[in-house]
Amino acid sequence: AQAGGSAQMGKNTIPGVKHVIAVASGKGGVGKSTVSANLAVALAKEGYKVGLCDCDLYGPSVAHMFGSRERPLATEDNEIIPIEAHGVKLMSMGFLLEENSPVIVRGPLATQYTQQFLKNVLWEDLDYLILDLPPGTGDIQLTIVQTISLTGAVIVTTPQEVALIDARKAVSMFAKVNVPLLGLVENMAWFECDLGTRYPIFGEGGGQREAEKLKIPLLGQIPIDIPTRRQGDDGAPVALLPAEANASSAAFTRIAKS
Ligand code: ADP
Repeated sequence: AQAGGSAQMGKNTIPGVKHVIAVASGKGGVGKSTVSANLAVALAKEGYKVGLCDCDLYGPSVAHMFGSRERPLATEDNEIIPIEAHGVKLMSMGFLLEENSPVIVRGPLATQYTQQFLKNVLWEDLDYLILDLPPGTGDIQLTIVQTISLTGAVIVTTPQEVALIDARKAVSMFAKVNVPLLGLVENMAWFECDLGTRYPIFGEGGGQREAEKLKIPLLGQIPIDIPTRRQGDDGAPVALLPAEANASSAAFTRIAKS
């Protein structure tokens, strides 16, 4: 999908980057970072040049999910060179701080850091730059959607009503600033046990119903499973596994192909 012309006028583009896609959720803990990381990996597996910018300054997880603790270097012009892991260019507060150090800054400074991640990092020559936004509709999200020309936004939710309520708020935020909604990803859609029985732990059909109500596509459903959690913890997102080997990897591959 292309950014809608006039709505994006006056916003900044990122040099060399063809498409900027924001991944957002209303509620925290629904798997937004997991989906961002896996979409980035799945797109890279399709042969696209991909970057992932962790805009969740207060809870950065990209460094951990990609298993890297490298420190980014800067050029003479003070531009930051992104870290590269699993075929994806990365930037995250997690590369700049010790793992247990909290980010203690107020909104305006956090917003400034986020802007720097987008403007002062040498993303260069990317088909897709994925932005892992913080949960909710606060300062950082607003600054990004108002100042950067986004191709579109992907909303992550679980099927549960409390997550859907917050997902709706995120959808309204993007709609208000005329950012096209690419669709909804329903994470933790079900748990499948060895016998092939599916247990809809967080409810059934919530993503589909919501997508229909909001008139946006349901891009995919990701099951809750141990490999998705473990691969993330081990620094190698589950989408790196062959699609035939894991249902989540297969789902991310389908989304990347679409
Ligand atoms: P958010 O970015 O929305 O806060 P995360 O991506 O950090 O959420 O996910 C929260 C936790 O749930 C993480 O520990 C992650 O490994 C786990 N998780 C997310 N999606 C899945 C899934 N589909 N299957 C299993 N575990 C998942």
